[in-house]
Amino acid sequence: MRQTLNEAQRDGRTHPRCGRCGIIWRQSGNRTGHCSGCHRTFDSLEAFDKHQVIPETGRVVCRDPAEVKRGDGSPVFESRIRDGVTYWGIPMSDAWRATLAGMRPSAGDAVALEGLPGAG
Ligand SMILES: [Zn+2]
Ligand SMILES: [Zn+2]
Repeated sequence: MRQTLNEAQRDGRTHPRCGRCGIIWRQSGNRTGHCSGCHRTFDSLEAFDKHQVIPETGRVVCRDPAEVKRGDGSPVFESRIRDGVTYWGIPMSDAWRATLAGMRPSAGDAVALEGLPGAG
């Protein structure tokens, strides 16, 4: 399905487009964020905040979500690709669970999410 931005706007949903990298993403409330620094798309404010660090120099630095690990070496971020756009989220957060639930066709999968092996 090919859809121009104008058509996307006309159908009543919010499809913001980045003027720099040209990505069009699905905005979910105020959760979704597209970084103007690294041009990655994040599906929660928590994820967005965590990909950035502010060193003592005071300038925000973007980290590659794929490189960010917890103390035990497990990845902090998880990516999902939807309509060709990669969304980064925090797997264990409620926002990310809601995202996954919204992407799955059947609600039954939500049960499996409850059984995720506990971290730590
Ligand atoms: Zn960034
Ligand atoms: Zn961009």
